Amino acid sequence: MRLAVLKERRADEARVAATPETARKLIALGCTVTVESGAGLSAGFPDTAYAEAGAEIAADAASALAGAGIVLKVRAPLAAGDGTLDELALIPRGALLIGTMGADKDAAGRYAAAGVDAAAMEMLPRITRAQSMDVLSSQANLAGYRAVIEAAGAFDRGFPMLMTAAGTIPAANVLVMGAGVAGLQAIATARRLGGRVSATDVRPAAKEEIKSLGASFVGYEDEESRAAQTAGGYAKAMSAEFLARQAEVVAGAIPKMDIVVCTALVQGRKAPILVTEAMVASMKPGSVIVDIASDAGGNCALTQPGEKLVTGQGVTILGYRNWPARIPAAASSLYARNLLTFLTTFWDKDTSRPVLPAEDDLVRGVMLTRGGQVVHPNFAAG
Ligand code: NAD
Repeated sequence: MRLAVLKERRADEARVAATPETARKLIALGCTVTVESGAGLSAGFPDTAYAEAGAEIAADAASALAGAGIVLKVRAPLAAGDGTLDELALIPRGALLIGTMGADKDAAGRYAAAGVDAAAMEMLPRITRAQSMDVLSSQANLAGYRAVIEAAGAFDRGFPMLMTAAGTIPAANVLVMGAGVAGLQAIATARRLGGRVSATDVRPAAKEEIKSLGASFVGYEDEESRAAQTAGGYAKAMSAEFLARQAEVVAGAIPKMDIVVCTALVQGRKAPILVTEAMVASMKPGSVIVDIASDAGGNCALTQPGEKLVTGQGVTILGYRNWPARIPAAASSLYARNLLTFLTTFWDKDTSRPVLPAEDDLVRGVMLTRGGQVVHPNFAAG
């Protein structure tokens, strides 16, 4: 079974879908691994490291993909009209394509038309059995960490209370908006740096998790928030009335904050606006807002996705996109292990190929297409 690892061509993407470590393990499974030259470079993995692990290095995407039965990607392959290269057209028909596939009806239709069996890892059910393959969790965790590190870098004072002979610098006040995987890691990281941390969320379970990490809970609670968690563990979209009440509480807390880390998301929707323009105006000069919800539009009304900006009052807003790619070596290592675990879970040793039973929960969750048909229940016609 030939397995290809492509270089990611999107402008803000520095990760790679296999590392020398996982390439070695894929070879041990029985794969012939071909890595497109330069695929790992921006994540700190040169061609020589893959070659030492036993992989073949291919000069370009077309030669990496020739004869491939499995293709590993971080992001959806570029298709006609996306820019320089129609990667999707180069993937052999019948190949199993694994990555974060930008799963929606249109994308599923494109994969079906290309005859590619696409496994969208972002659709993996968030169940215990799937934890070690959960790319959303592994990447969000690092994004939360990185957000706090970049906030510390952009902040013109310190995180911990610094007692010196010349006087004392107070600890930074940090507010984390949204305490899912990224937010909880942001809380833990800000605490480790010595910040005084509080956090808000709408799910009742998140409140307990915030407290268990030693942060204080800031938020509004009512009947609606007590039922704010979906069966899948995600937040529901809250009513305008609830958001207004929550905003009152946040508006009271924000003028004291030095750092605000925004991570709140509602699955399949634009991110909720939780930090209004007036709230930003109430913050002290030198304060920093890091908005890692920017890929979904951002939690701060002033966030410009992809940009860093400084308001007239001296508040810095880091609205960069794709936060996991800002810590590419670690993010690639975890992402690559997630994909390796997925493959080994379904690996048939006798035939040296993956066998993906349609009735398996994980397979049903991720497979968009099979044999030229859209099979995912969310996107299949009829
Ligand atoms: P997410 O990225 O969808 O959202 C981030 C956070 O934003 C969530 O905590 C959400 O409640 C919060 N949020 C949404 N609207 C908000 C608002 N108006 N104000 C404040 N906060 C708001 O979430 P996630 O990090 O992917 O985690 C989703 C859930 O899945 C969590 O309960 C997590 O613990 C769970 N999970 C479970 C497993 C597992 O294997 N059991 C694995 C990963 C995640």
